[in-house]
Amino acid sequence: MTDIIIIGAGPAGLSAAIYAKRAGYSVMILDKGASECQITKATEVENYLGYLSITGIDLHSKFVEHVKANDISIIKKAVVSLEQNDAGFTVHTRKDSFDAKNVILAMGRSHKHLGIEGEERLSGAGVSYCATCDGFFFKNKSVAVIGGGDSALSQAIYLSAFCKNVYLIHRRDTFRAASYLVDRAKSIENIEFILNSTVQEILGESFVNGIRVKTNDTISKLDCDGVFGAIGEKANLNFEIPALNTNPQGQIITDNYCRTNIHGLYAVGDIREREVYQIITAVADGALVIEGILKDSN
Ligand SMILES: Cc1cc2nc3c(=O)[nH]c(=O)nc-3n(C[C@H](O)[C@H](O)[C@H](O)COP(=O)(O)OP(=O)(O)OC[C@H]3O[C@@H](n4cnc5c(N)ncnc54)[C@H](O)[C@@H]3O)c2cc1C
Repeated sequence: MTDIIIIGAGPAGLSAAIYAKRAGYSVMILDKGASECQITKATEVENYLGYLSITGIDLHSKFVEHVKANDISIIKKAVVSLEQNDAGFTVHTRKDSFDAKNVILAMGRSHKHLGIEGEERLSGAGVSYCATCDGFFFKNKSVAVIGGGDSALSQAIYLSAFCKNVYLIHRRDTFRAASYLVDRAKSIENIEFILNSTVQEILGESFVNGIRVKTNDTISKLDCDGVFGAIGEKANLNFEIPALNTNPQGQIITDNYCRTNIHGLYAVGDIREREVYQIITAVADGALVIEGILKDSN
């Protein structure tokens, strides 16, 4: 039986693994794949201490290298369920099961869907949630970005560098996004703000060719080639854990040592309720959670 199984190899899970190994625990990481990891979607990271500028993929590779140098195995398998028993936990993937005394949930978070007509049908055919991943396909084309937070404003600014037009569609006329992002987007000529408006439908047969937008009581068609959904994120609690305490947004509630309400079960990084969702805060959880496990075993 392994002392600690970590589910998720993002910054939080990888950092927890290093602290676990150095505290003398046996540890194993199960991970769905780096393409699902948020850090790998960051084109440029400029706020992680020690690096003036580095791509998310390169920074993640350095984290993985560090973990592997500590003889920790990362098994590429998605966890589909978790069972609690007298000895601790059994973690199930589709074909295998692994036993552990403690489990650390480190599955991160991902984008919310818009929930409108045409979205699922045209997903990957003009509908995207990641400008840095898919923006290149819309070079010299018109795109709509939906949302009013940091992610929406950042994506609009990023796309404006090579798209013909960027429509930023937001249901209010005030923004959750940082004011410097709003000011910067407003200063860019090819970003057009469409405020107090909601998108009702994404149009197109085999590829997006427009959207239906409702502004006050008027519905109009706006031609565009791509739609970027940026209305927020949700915790990747992608299998059921009965009795686990979460907040109304589905984020796991923990104490300062990343302990959940279930003995032996911990949550680190973006999957837990917190104020700041950054690489540095996710990495910091690695140190906190092992302190929590040490306290629980004393
Ligand atoms: C586009 C973008 C740009 C960003 N830019 C920055 C930046 O410049 N600076 C900064 O500090 N932060 C940035 N962030 C935020 C940062 O990436 C996250 O805060 C950080 O990656 C969170 O780490 P995490 O380990 O909690 O989750 P993640 O990095 O999301 O990792 C979660 C891991 O869990 C795995 N997983 C999920 N479900 C399962 C399952 N059922 N079984 C097994 N594995 C599973 C996934 O495959 C993934 O590898 C950015 C995020 C995005 C999306």
